[in-house]
Amino acid sequence: MKKWLSILPLSLILLLCACQSNDASAQIFAMDTVMDLTVQGSGAAQALKDAEAELYRLDTLLSRQDSASAVSALNEGAGSPVAVDEELYNLLQTAAEYSALTDGAFAVTVAPIMDAWDFTGEHPRVPSRAELDNLLPLVGDERIAFGASNTITLEQGTAVDLGGIAKGYASDRLADLFAADGISSAMVSLGGNVYVRGAKSDGSLWRVAVEDPNDTAAYLGVLSLQEKFIITSGGYQRYFERDGVTYYHIIDPKTGDVARSGLLSATVVSNSGTMGDALSTALFVMGYEKAVQFWRTSGLDFDMVLCDDSGHVYYTEGLEGSFDTSLAEHAYEYICIPKN
Ligand code: ADP
Ligand code: MG
Repeated sequence: MKKWLSILPLSLILLLCACQSNDASAQIFAMDTVMDLTVQGSGAAQALKDAEAELYRLDTLLSRQDSASAVSALNEGAGSPVAVDEELYNLLQTAAEYSALTDGAFAVTVAPIMDAWDFTGEHPRVPSRAELDNLLPLVGDERIAFGASNTITLEQGTAVDLGGIAKGYASDRLADLFAADGISSAMVSLGGNVYVRGAKSDGSLWRVAVEDPNDTAAYLGVLSLQEKFIITSGGYQRYFERDGVTYYHIIDPKTGDVARSGLLSATVVSNSGTMGDALSTALFVMGYEKAVQFWRTSGLDFDMVLCDDSGHVYYTEGLEGSFDTSLAEHAYEYICIPKN
């Protein structure tokens, strides 16, 4: 390192130091997950502070675990109209749209089922079929009625859980905030939901590892990208084991059971964090075949990486050239999916 520095002209060394001193990074805990934030360039320290404040604000708005949140107030008022924040109204409308587009594979009304499993509580459990069947009539985003003046009515017994879209939405908000703060280079990882802003300050592309769901210390590959949201849903992130069976936190809203579609992870690369988060959850529920059909026919602009339980890693053609698998530690069969 010293040798390398010694061959650089002094002006360039000063420039390098100047760039580095403008970079700011932090790790925080919000939305029930660890978040890593890196902001580069002039104004980075202030933008980082603004970003942290924004993430805590969104946590207070959207967290179902927080009994004082706006989402909790809405859930408690189920059965009658509740006036909500415009931001929550709009986000729930977007969530309901993704529910319709994915034929209900994504459904924020999965909340009563999540409660029955209690994945995030101290006593996660496996609900009986009868218990799930009793809860299923409460699930389906058409049970959310959007009224005038930001009023929402949830059907009696229905509740919403934004866990499948909130972090992606938060990354969109950070993108807006960085734009307002004049930041052209940043990378944030909100519990594995990644947003890369622009290119790095040295002009190179950001490199984002796609985790190996069979071995979280390894990767399936590395994506070199700029200005993208890279969002993964996987059964390996939050789970518990009972009698030798693993149960994880992504639910098939049609059955109330853990989604066992044959996929171990679904990663979406797109220009919207909110869409990427909703779709990563939905594609995981759909499984390989439906996911590919959805990618081809939905008209939505995104790419994806899917890892299945038989050793295949599928990636859509838009990622060819940016998905480097040479560093993958485990042997997978990599298959590029063409659009037609
Ligand atoms: P992560 O939160 O680990 O990044 P996801 O984006 O896939 O992963 O979200 C999983 C969370 O979304 C669950 O913890 C739950 O709150 C909620 N959820 C589970 N299944 C669904 C579903 N089918 N549709 C919408 N939300 C879901
Ligand atoms: Mg999601």
